[in-house]
Amino acid sequence: MQATVHPIRLMTPFPVGAVNVFLLREDPVTLVDVGPKTPESWEMLEHELREAGCRWRDIQYVVITHPHVDHYGLLPRVLEASGAKALAHPDALRRIRTPRLAAEEEMRYFQGFLVSAGVPEEIRGLIADHQRTLQDYVDGADEVGELAEGRRAELGGRIWSVVDTPGHSSGHLSLFHEKTGDLIAGDHLLPHISSNAVLEPPKEPGGERRRSLLVYMESLKRVAAMPVRTVYPGHGEVFTGAAELVESRLQGYERRCDQLLGWLREGPATVYDLVKRMFPRLSRDNWFLAVSEITGHLDVLEVRGQARIEERKGVWYYRADSSSGVARSAIRVAR
Ligand SMILES: [Zn+2]
Ligand SMILES: [Zn+2]
Repeated sequence: MQATVHPIRLMTPFPVGAVNVFLLREDPVTLVDVGPKTPESWEMLEHELREAGCRWRDIQYVVITHPHVDHYGLLPRVLEASGAKALAHPDALRRIRTPRLAAEEEMRYFQGFLVSAGVPEEIRGLIADHQRTLQDYVDGADEVGELAEGRRAELGGRIWSVVDTPGHSSGHLSLFHEKTGDLIAGDHLLPHISSNAVLEPPKEPGGERRRSLLVYMESLKRVAAMPVRTVYPGHGEVFTGAAELVESRLQGYERRCDQLLGWLREGPATVYDLVKRMFPRLSRDNWFLAVSEITGHLDVLEVRGQARIEERKGVWYYRADSSSGVARSAIRVAR
């Protein structure tokens, strides 16, 4: 067998479409990600493994790129069938071990956050329902080992470097093989869509919220500076040209920041006002991602001194900060 990265495409019930998991067929045989907990996804995975000449018992490691249900929902079932050892980033372990508890705690934080973001009660209810529904597609796994930055891991007949790539999610890791330039990237870099830097609560209760888009932009630049040749993404086709794609994503963020700043110059606005203006027709599943998207860009403007928050009756109003017209070129994050 060749030491190649073998993509397996599994259906998901989510708007993103199919998810890719990767089989590394040489010893120690490794599966990277497992798909959501649905009967279809399980059957497809079984079928594709069989086609690849791999039995469950051959799999020695399962690596999870990040704790989103489309990537790890089936984990306990795969571990039971294979007897494999699971590995994930330390920051991903809480969600992987106790997904429902973690989701409940996150929603508690976000209900307050969404009030401050100006999101009406009805939409807050839709968001909570959607987050709860996601839990139908996952079970927790108790035994998960840690894999973090700086580790060199022998998986599938190769030595891989573990690269921390937080931003789309905390606890997101990528695997990089220096000799070939192969990068198994999870959702860090997707060919057809710009990954959402999903809002997350503070790591510690009462702590400061992680500014997801800023974290994500730093991780993107990091990967662009690495000698990556082929990217194996969590969704879409395998592709090359990672650095160019990163550049175009960063330019996209700059354009969106400019657009939001232009709107703020017309007058103060809440996150919700800007969500409605940017995305006039949202389906019920997309509200939270849209709030993430807008908040992330407002974070960038705020950190650059181009916008500031004024709180009125518990609601945040963003204003363009006219005193800092030079901020963009001075603190430009894009390069
Ligand atoms: Zn994801
Ligand atoms: Zn995904």
